[in-house]
Amino acid sequence: MRTRALTPIKYYRLPWNLSDNAITWLEPTTKCNLYCEGCYRENDPEGHKPLETVIRELESVKKLRRSDGISIAGGEPLIYPQIVDLVRHVAAQGWKPIINSNGHALTPELVRDLERAGLVGFTMHVDSHQKRPGWSGKSEAELNALRLSLAEMIHEAGRGRVACAFNATIYRDTLGDVPMLDRWAEEHMDLVNTMVFILFRSAKLLSKQKDFDGFVNGKKITAKDLKALPYQLDHMEDHEDIMAQDIADAMRRRSPEYEPCAFLNGTEDPAAMKWLLALRMGRRAETLGWMDPRFAEAVQSLHHLFHGTYLAYSRPGSLKNAQALFFLALFNKGLRRALLRWLARPSRWIEPLRMQSVMVIQPCDVLTDGRQSMCDGCPDAIPYKGRLVWSCRLDELERFGGFIMGFAKKKPPQA
Ligand code: SF4
Repeated sequence: MRTRALTPIKYYRLPWNLSDNAITWLEPTTKCNLYCEGCYRENDPEGHKPLETVIRELESVKKLRRSDGISIAGGEPLIYPQIVDLVRHVAAQGWKPIINSNGHALTPELVRDLERAGLVGFTMHVDSHQKRPGWSGKSEAELNALRLSLAEMIHEAGRGRVACAFNATIYRDTLGDVPMLDRWAEEHMDLVNTMVFILFRSAKLLSKQKDFDGFVNGKKITAKDLKALPYQLDHMEDHEDIMAQDIADAMRRRSPEYEPCAFLNGTEDPAAMKWLLALRMGRRAETLGWMDPRFAEAVQSLHHLFHGTYLAYSRPGSLKNAQALFFLALFNKGLRRALLRWLARPSRWIEPLRMQSVMVIQPCDVLTDGRQSMCDGCPDAIPYKGRLVWSCRLDELERFGGFIMGFAKKKPPQA
């Protein structure tokens, strides 16, 4: 069921760009302890890089981009032997280290060591298309038990100082779970700082594209080339791409007031919502209001003014006691709405209010003429041979020496 249309023109356009961004991606390893459907990276058992190589990559980031945080991803970063040293190094350079993990190798001891090394946050990827020992075949609702145990471990072993976010790739068959996942995140606002819905994408078989061909460096790409990519999933080919509007419709089935405040457009489509951010203020199991675009703009601008970077992650402490922001309600509609609700019931006053982000990421959109609309400024850009490139398509660079580009087929001349 369609709800009101998302209106990116009214949202704050996140000011992130290629040289000045909230985050930057880093892959110390491409080895993983799980094989997940929909992963954009090939699992290479020999994929650990020497720490010196990773540090050299970070040196190149310094020359190319201002960045608030470094997303340490992979592969599975928690099985990288020098992960604690790497986190310490990232923190010592003034970046916020964030680990993007499936959580399978997480232990309280490791959380403790990482927190001491300066870790600011975890983004845990948990969804029902993963082949996770002991959890295979479980529904998204059943996986909430795993999510909760990870969130509690991070909170307790991390002494409440490490932020916790969850990613879930959303497929057609799990789109209906979005309201349930949102409810779960809301119920655990005290432990979960961010919920991210990543919209599944598979490389489209070019043989099925009538209007364009794919080329790398002038050479035509074959179906065999494409099938070698980890993100070419034939059995998913009939899937119609899920779009940010689909997530908004699903969210509003439970939270009719859900409204994003900020977005990042596509490289080929200014109205595409490649990153779509909503910020809720509330307490456990209760949303008092969704922040508006002016709020997102103030946060990003002030952070840049005082810290020189756009904001990616915050420690949980700064997301707690959000009622301290109510003095801004004089100038801000979203906060005013939340304040009035908060005042209406004194029982609410004893529990601290929190901010929680709900993010939608809509990766590569292939347009009908073959152009590919990527996230403008690519927050997840990764250092690769002295450049910053899309991490979600790194396998193309490694396999073919370039990104696949689509070009419209020549039409026969009109009679
Ligand atoms: S372009 Fe790809 S790597 Fe960059 S932010 Fe978008 S999905 Fe992530």
